[in-house]
Amino acid sequence: MNDKETKKKKNELLYERKNFWKDAPAAEIKQAFSFAKPYLGFLNQAKTVRETIAWTEELLLAQKFHALPSAKANKRVYSIFRNKTIAMAVLGSEPVSAGINMVAAHIDAPRVDLKQNPLYEDSASGTACMRTHYYGGIKKYQWVSTPLALHGFIVKSDGKTVNVSIGEQDGEPVFIIPDLLPHLARKEQYTKNMADAVSAANMNLIFSGMQEPGSEEKEALKAYALKILKQKYGIREQDFISAELELVPATPARDSGLDASMVVGYGQDDRICAYTAIRALLANLDAKPKRTMVVYFSDKEEVGSQGNTGAHSVFIQDFVASLLRHNGESDSSANLRKTFINSQILSGDVTAAVDPNYPGVHERQNAVLFNHGIGISKFTGSGGKYGCNDANAEFTAKIIRIFDTHKVFWQMGELGKVDEGGGGTIAYIMANLGAEVIDCGTGLMGMHSLYELCSKADLYSTYAGYKAFLTCQ
Ligand code: MN
Ligand code: MN
Repeated sequence: MNDKETKKKKNELLYERKNFWKDAPAAEIKQAFSFAKPYLGFLNQAKTVRETIAWTEELLLAQKFHALPSAKANKRVYSIFRNKTIAMAVLGSEPVSAGINMVAAHIDAPRVDLKQNPLYEDSASGTACMRTHYYGGIKKYQWVSTPLALHGFIVKSDGKTVNVSIGEQDGEPVFIIPDLLPHLARKEQYTKNMADAVSAANMNLIFSGMQEPGSEEKEALKAYALKILKQKYGIREQDFISAELELVPATPARDSGLDASMVVGYGQDDRICAYTAIRALLANLDAKPKRTMVVYFSDKEEVGSQGNTGAHSVFIQDFVASLLRHNGESDSSANLRKTFINSQILSGDVTAAVDPNYPGVHERQNAVLFNHGIGISKFTGSGGKYGCNDANAEFTAKIIRIFDTHKVFWQMGELGKVDEGGGGTIAYIMANLGAEVIDCGTGLMGMHSLYELCSKADLYSTYAGYKAFLTCQ
């Protein structure tokens, strides 16, 4: 054996993750760039849960999917529940009860909601403001002094509904929660911990700034704001109570980096996995797999997955039961349990990629790196794996085998150093139903920030991984 042969032998024994840009064929590199283009449009169009559902349904209808219940001949079906969660399926040739292949992602993202009674006139500043209540794990200081758009949905007392979107179109006004100037921040902010420096009580939004010309009304700014809202949306103050109004970053998603090899944008946790999952499903429409392919988008993951649209709700079980009925199979409790027990699920959620500014929070050998493909996490959770799913070794090996067979770039990584912090996904909720489940998603930098960063190599590899998985046996 000469030196070269020894080196080759050694390489075969080592596990080494591969860099997509270095090792992918030129055609695939081109695909990674073209795949990212419509993704930007998706991020800009789907900034709330309801908007993501609307975007998804439009895409499904264009691909001839049918809402359940539907005629048995239709092999492409979906269900939307309370406008906040959706599941879609392409029926396979085997019975559904033989087990489904599912990619499950969540479509809610951290944000700042308006309170139910939000509007007030602030006499000290001479402005009309909105009180807010943040949703999910945000760093509050990031949401001040940044342009925000107001998105949402109002149900008026007569039952009529109104969709709201202000601040996305060119020329539309945006909103600001002003931060305190550094000149006067010494006591209010600089003496405090980072988490307390901007308090939730100080996250009031400047909603409007003028009163109706010539008006002598008391609280004339608030009155004028209400008058504009009445003209624009036909609402009165009480209608805020039955509204879901959300502030999201107004800045659109963009290519990032000199080489444009990355995407920066809001809400990629976890709409990057939702987007890649549905694109993977649609890319498999002619694949005719044996197993039924399912993509599931859940809500409320950022606040614990509870509620009637969270992953803990009965919806996903009910959807699979409706698939059984649709396919002429028994939807009995026993058959539904059997279906889940026979099923394989990728919990599609993002993970934390090593950040050049904070490498110390990761243990690099077991962390996800940009450009090295879809990130597999055998377990999430925190501390001694509390709250984790912990995929079985058998299923982990199977997923790696599928990815290797399809030449998908993949890597294994945990979310941060042991005892550094931690985080959960919906993996354990799905696993509680008896299915084989593993976390599998994209590594982000700046997760939960207003502008999360991903690599186009990893975006594409996530899609390629889901695509290979959905058709596997
Ligand atoms: Mn997530
Ligand atoms: Mn999250």
